[in-house]
Amino acid sequence: MRNYDNKTKEELLEIIEQLEKKTEYLSSQSVCTDSERFRERYGMRILDALPDMLTVFDHDANIIELASSAATNHVEGTDSESIISSNVKDILPKEAYENVRRNMDKVIRTGKSSTARHDLVQDGILHHYENRIFPLDDEYLLCMCRDISKQWDAEQTNARQKKELDAARIKAEESDRLKSAFLANMSHEIRTPLNAIVGFSKLLASAESAEEKNQYAEIIDRNSEILLNLFNDILDLSSLEAGSLKFNIRPIKLIDICLQLVQQFHYKTQSSVKLILDDVDTDMYASGDWNRVIQVISNLLSNATKFTPKGEIHFGYLEKEDFVEFYVKDSGIGIAPERAATIFRRFGKVNDFIQGTGLGLTLCRMLVEKMGGRIWLRSQEGKGSRFYFTLPLVRV
Ligand code: ADP
Repeated sequence: MRNYDNKTKEELLEIIEQLEKKTEYLSSQSVCTDSERFRERYGMRILDALPDMLTVFDHDANIIELASSAATNHVEGTDSESIISSNVKDILPKEAYENVRRNMDKVIRTGKSSTARHDLVQDGILHHYENRIFPLDDEYLLCMCRDISKQWDAEQTNARQKKELDAARIKAEESDRLKSAFLANMSHEIRTPLNAIVGFSKLLASAESAEEKNQYAEIIDRNSEILLNLFNDILDLSSLEAGSLKFNIRPIKLIDICLQLVQQFHYKTQSSVKLILDDVDTDMYASGDWNRVIQVISNLLSNATKFTPKGEIHFGYLEKEDFVEFYVKDSGIGIAPERAATIFRRFGKVNDFIQGTGLGLTLCRMLVEKMGGRIWLRSQEGKGSRFYFTLPLVRV
């Protein structure tokens, strides 16, 4: 024990000050030691508990340190020991390495942390990872790598559901627009022939000469047919869309169909237009529904006669591999190429002032597709149109 009895007051004060400093130093040392002990004891366990694989590497991607539990080590066929002192390039597949490398270069260039994604296959399943890289100093980078496959899958599902919802919304809006167009179109298309029928029926009652009566009866007849065709088209379209239209598919002798159509159109074609059935194979068969094939070709011939003021309309068919290719060619007003797709859609018309609902070709397309064929068109505005459609060929 030191003796302080003969010390002056100043000396004593100096000793007290020194003692205070020493105590302060010792107490600070003891806190540091506790914290170090804590880190030593729990440090790795804390790092292992993180959902990330932590890696420290230098700018050349040499791995210096790794903190990863077996669960977070996602490099197949490695353990922590083998990863340390290897190079990222050697333990990751080329594409994954290139993604990580790009992110490393960005961090080295900017001096700021950055996050990127890379993919790896583990046990045959594709996993998605997020690599967050931090600059530790001028020499080392810390990479925190996390499996985000579940989050990724959820994002993809959300994106898919959003796309489906968007598609459903667009479809609903489109069908709403079509419904309005349908009503606007229909009221006009129905009213015009109906007005003619009502008006000329009244005139018929008071007609004096037989000639007048015949003329009015003919107008009534023509407009009744227009109305009937219109209702038939609408009914067919709704049955086709509901999938309830029945088809009686069987081998059809094509020449028979064509001859029936020649007869049918003989009286309908104006004298300035010549309808010609080209030379065709009279023994050729296709598979289809007789009435529906007639309906498709009739529609194409009606359009051809409607849009050809004068000239020739040729029709016929040819064998094309496993199909029969029908054609109707006219020398009429033609269709601009950019309108070609429109006319196969419901109510698609090139000219709104021309009589018709714009349903005919939609029906043709749906009928042909149901019978296993397809329909298309080649046309030049002012020079004429060529409509083609196919049906499966039947070899007899
Ligand atoms: P619609 O039943 O009203 O005749 P379509 O669907 O058959 O309707 O035809 C749609 C539109 O396609 C017509 O309004 C016309 O503009 C155009 N079109 C069809 N065929 C021809 C053709 N041969 N020549 C020129 N335009 C045509």
